[in-house]
Amino acid sequence: MPLITHNEKEGIRTLLISSGAAAVGFARAGSITEERSILFRRWVESGSAAGMDYMRRHTPLRDTTESVLPGAATVISMAFGYASEAERDPALPSVSRYAWGQDYHDVLREALKESVGKLTEIYPGAGFRICIDSAPVDERYWALEAGIGIRGRNGSVIVGGCGGYNFLVELLTTLEIEPDDPSRGLCEDCGACLKACPTGALQPDGTIDCRRCLSYLTIEHRDDWDAVGTEAMRTPAGLHTLFGCDICLRVCPHNRHSDESKTIALLRPSGTTLSLTAQEVLSMSRERFNALLKGTPLRRARHEGLLRNARNTLYIKP
Ligand code: SF4
Ligand code: SF4
Repeated sequence: MPLITHNEKEGIRTLLISSGAAAVGFARAGSITEERSILFRRWVESGSAAGMDYMRRHTPLRDTTESVLPGAATVISMAFGYASEAERDPALPSVSRYAWGQDYHDVLREALKESVGKLTEIYPGAGFRICIDSAPVDERYWALEAGIGIRGRNGSVIVGGCGGYNFLVELLTTLEIEPDDPSRGLCEDCGACLKACPTGALQPDGTIDCRRCLSYLTIEHRDDWDAVGTEAMRTPAGLHTLFGCDICLRVCPHNRHSDESKTIALLRPSGTTLSLTAQEVLSMSRERFNALLKGTPLRRARHEGLLRNARNTLYIKP
């Protein structure tokens, strides 16, 4: 199959943008740079991955796209914006904006079904694999290689029209598509995110020490928090957090405005997550948790985890 360029390449981009992507870019698949690989290993070895053992296990797999799709020639990197005009009552314990509605994994897989289906018809025999946090792919590295945004000091990839409020998705393919120019740009570098992080989790190099990050502690962490985690969760921001944290995104000047045409709809008509109180969580049986929060990102915290978080929001400092 000859290299795909010009109109044919733009046709693929247009098709994927029609799925709702705010930006689509192409990078040559293969190995990440040695520098990037070393940085990630250092981050894991420093303990910053906290209890996410899969990060340790997947470290060698992230180094190359071969471990995800053998024969991959191109990484198609996509960003889907999700900033929402809806507001959650600030009196309620906070829930990350991305979790105010349906689970984005389901929404994005559904959104891409038709476009990727068309690609498999146009290019029979070509291999495709969609990765929505579902494979060990260094998504930020590939997004920058594909030139779809710039690097934010807060660890996000800032994309035109949706800022850092985006989900990164990769479509790996055996098709050889002419790469776009990589992005070497940096955000405004104002330092607001570093200053605003309430627990000191955000590091000056843009990495996050998950041991004290409210997002990690309220979503991924299983069981009770250790002393460092407890200290973070007993800060005023931690005491106000039910699920996830957007503070380092919220203060970013790149996120002040978003273009509605570059965001995907996530909210469910019922708005279940938007109005959830700590008391409602505490009175939820496991069955109720499963039924009410089915198809929402909150399930990731599991029943025990959400209860733990809700209890913390009602904690009164001695
Ligand atoms: S998500 Fe919250 S706690 Fe974590 S680094 Fe950002 S501001 Fe800090
Ligand atoms: S808040 Fe400032 S330093 Fe942080 S990502 Fe945004 S522009 Fe960059």
